[in-house]
This record gives sequence, C-alpha cells and structure tokens, in this order.
Amino acid sequence: MSENKKQLLEDATGKEHIIEIKDLCKSYDDNQVLKNITFYIRNNEFITLLGPSGCGKSTTLRIIAGFETADSGIVNFEGENLLDTPAYKRHINTVFQRYALFPHLNVFDNVAFGLHLKKVPKDEVKERVTKALKTVGLEGYEKRYIDQISGGQMQRVAIARAIINRPRVLLLDEPLGALDLKMRKEMQIELKQMQRELGITFVYVTHDQEEALTMSDTIIVMKDGVIQQIGTPIDIYNEPKNAYVADFIGESNIIPGIMSKDLEVTFAGSTFECVDKLFKEMESGKENPVDVVVRPEDIYVKEEAPDHINGTVDSIVFKGVHYEIIVKSDNGIEWMIHDVDPVNVGQRVGLTFDPDDIHIMRKSQFSPDPDSYGVKVEDQAEDEE
Ligand code: ADP
Ligand code: MG
Repeated sequence: MSENKKQLLEDATGKEHIIEIKDLCKSYDDNQVLKNITFYIRNNEFITLLGPSGCGKSTTLRIIAGFETADSGIVNFEGENLLDTPAYKRHINTVFQRYALFPHLNVFDNVAFGLHLKKVPKDEVKERVTKALKTVGLEGYEKRYIDQISGGQMQRVAIARAIINRPRVLLLDEPLGALDLKMRKEMQIELKQMQRELGITFVYVTHDQEEALTMSDTIIVMKDGVIQQIGTPIDIYNEPKNAYVADFIGESNIIPGIMSKDLEVTFAGSTFECVDKLFKEMESGKENPVDVVVRPEDIYVKEEAPDHINGTVDSIVFKGVHYEIIVKSDNGIEWMIHDVDPVNVGQRVGLTFDPDDIHIMRKSQFSPDPDSYGVKVEDQAEDEE
C-alpha cells in the first residue's frame, strides 16, 4: 500500500490524486453516454460533476462506486486499477438522493446497520454512531424513527451512515435534491464544513450551478457525456472555456467578436481594450473570430454618450437583490444587466464595462448564432472560409 501511495501522481499543487479516471466510455445500446471522460480527483478535495440532466453524471459516479462497469477506460484509486475490485471492497461510499433508510429502524440503528453486519463490538458501535450523529448535527435523535424526522434530518442520517465506515471517498448524487430551497442552502454550507472536518474526499453531483459554485473546490462541467471544462468555481465563472459553460454557469451576454491582436477585441460595433491575448493558434493581424462574454453584473448603465453602447431600455424586473434590465442597443444586440438602481422602460441609456470584465472564448459548436444579434458579421464569415 505504501508503495502504491508513493506512486500517486502529484500535480503542481503538490496534492495527491486519490482517483484518476482515464478515457471512460460507456454506451447503453446505441446511446453513448460517456465519451472519453478523463479527470483526476485530489485527496481531500470537494469536487463536483455539474451538468444538465442526462449528461452522464450519475453514470460516472456509479462507475467510480463499482455499481456499473465502463465499456473502456480506467479508474485508478491510489494508483491501483479498480477494475477487479467489487463495490463493497472499495474505500468509497455513496449517498443517494433517495436516502434508502430503513423505516422500521430508529436513527441509531439505521446508522449502525453496516457495523452490526460487520459484527463490530457493541461499545465501539455506540461510540462510532454517537460520533457520526454528532458530526451531522443529530445528537439526541437516536431513538426517533425515520417517519418522525424531517427530510433534512433523513439526509443527515444517510450521511452519518455513509461516513460511519470512514470511507476515503464519499460520492454524493444530488443528495439535496429532495429538500426545499432554504434547507438546501443550509445543508450546502454544512456539507462543506463536514467535508473539511472529516478530511474525506467528496465527489458531488448536481445540475444546480449555484450549488456547485458554493460548495466545490473543483467543478467539472459536463454536457452530453463530454467534459467541457474543469476548474475552480472562480475559473469556471470568470474564464468559461466556451459559450456553453458561460451560459450554463450563470446568466451572460455572449456576443460574436473579432480579435486581430493581443489586448484588443472588436464586438458590438466597437473595438475595446481587453486583458486577454490571442489564443496560441491565432495569427496576429488576422481577423480571428471569437466569442465574448460580459456578465450582467459587470455592465454599467450610464448616460448616452459617443463612446458608450447606446440603446433603449426594453424591460426591467425586480429580482430581490438587483433589477434585471434588458437594453436593446442601437446595433441590434440585447444586453442583460443586473443593477441595483432602477431605470424606466423606453429610457435612452449608454452602457459601459471595464476591460477586465470582457472575457474572450474560442469559437465552439455552442457559439451563438450571429444572425440572432442583428449585426453584420461579414468579416467573420470570410475568416472562417
Ligand atoms: P445524469 O446523472 O447526468 O442525469 P445519467 O448518468 O443518469 O445522467 O444518464 C446518462 C444517460 O444514460 C441518460 O440518457 C440516461 O437515460 C442513460 N442511462 C442511464 N442509465 C441507463 C440504463 N441503466 N440503461 C439505459 N440508459 C441509461
Ligand atoms: Mg443523475
């Protein structure tokens, strides 16, 4: 084991990779649901698979757990291939959205179930169950039956049961999906705290981008069985790799643009200073098509002016913390803006944003249709041959 541990690959952060997944492929009949999935999981991190329903998140998790086998590809755990290791022998446990608790047992016995099966001595069972219930904030609930506790408490019981065997890795498949919004927000914070305290690697699955941004050290964005981007929440939010990630991870304005040199981009009829350089495959002096993202909260609504993007307020909706404002600029683009100050529908305004709030992405299959912006993009069409 210690030999294997030494073989664990380390990355630039010096952290060990507890799990490495290479080129996982999986099909159900003709439906390929995982297409060359490759990523690693650092020891003790909170990593989240994020993507819309059906993109292959649960399938990936089930393969890591050993409930499902891949058609091809490798899952390494601490440097050892898990292919021939049955689920129950992996140092991995799973919490499902449906908690699968036993209604005829009380909280204590639900959590103790696995230990009883393993014939762990009674004193030790008591000690470990008490500790696990304390970790999830359920001290004093030992004698309650499952139908006498709330959904949030059931979720805690399921987590207590999953950590009782001290797994190295905990897989959580949309564990908060059945809870109402307020309880979900509370549990998000608590789960993150638990993960830190326990020192267990959490692999979390959700389709909720806000949940992923709140809880994760690393996010893996998936679509149709393909990984679109891997990064920290801040990376993914601020530097989305393509229009799909930009759109999925938060509301954004995605506009086709042209870059001909470093630190300068042309879109929406003007040329702007930016902080990005040409991508390495792009030639300076050439009209390289790109996608440009500007987040709604990064746009300032000001007076009309020659060097602003001028337009007319189309709609305004109060969203609690901010107003969501749509401005139609004179060049035919609809801008979504989040601002704390209201404006009037029909009002003329000028929009501005800072150079470091302009994010440049490569063109992809998810790029917006230029026609939908009403702007002429002949330059771009030429460039694409
Ligand atoms: P997610 O968890 O991201 O919502 P899943 O991994 O559950 O997605 O499913 C990915 C795709 O695989 C979906 O199209 C789903 O219908 C299909 N799928 C999952 N499990 C099975 C199965 N046992 N048999 C056939 N198709 C399946
Ligand atoms: Mg799922």
